[in-house]
Amino acid sequence: DVKVTIPIESINSLSVKSFPFCMRQLHEQLRSVHHLKHGGRLQYGLFLKGIGVTLEDSLRFWREEFTKIMESDKFEKQYAYNIRYNYGKEGSKKNYAPFNCLKIINTNVGPGECHGCPFRHSDLNVLKNKLKGYGLEGQAANDIVDMTKKGHYQIACSKYFDAIHNTDLGIGINHPNQYFEESQKLMKG
Ligand code: SF4
Repeated sequence: DVKVTIPIESINSLSVKSFPFCMRQLHEQLRSVHHLKHGGRLQYGLFLKGIGVTLEDSLRFWREEFTKIMESDKFEKQYAYNIRYNYGKEGSKKNYAPFNCLKIINTNVGPGECHGCPFRHSDLNVLKNKLKGYGLEGQAANDIVDMTKKGHYQIACSKYFDAIHNTDLGIGINHPNQYFEESQKLMKG
């Protein structure tokens, strides 16, 4: 089982086609404000590691965004350490696992933070607008919102998967990296 490497250059298009909602929104936030708070950096950083982005590419990616709003010196001092840490290259050198849905759903999301699970943590109107922005309207969007309202966040995620991929597989989603792999499998046929 050879680990696939995902070049960071493909991240924008992958975020649209193969990222679950939680990671797509973190990616968009990072691209638009060039910063993520700690919870977001951790959730998204570990996900990227999990899909096969190398440490070198990760450092390049975060540096490119963060240095749009800060000196590179500050980035190296305050943020690069944590990225290497996520890859087990600093501190206790543990190989940290990307978070599963349960952990993400049960996390606390404070004001101004955008990690967590959008089905659990987003305001319903914000959620509907985002779905619309992603081209999801009508029945598909209604089904997702219904499940969200009922508190079936992972089923909402599965419906989101089906709508994005134009299928009706109804795959059980329990991990953002599993979502990604299922999507890649489908797209590669
Ligand atoms: Fe992400 Fe899981 Fe929520 Fe889907 S159900 S958006 S994969 S945390």
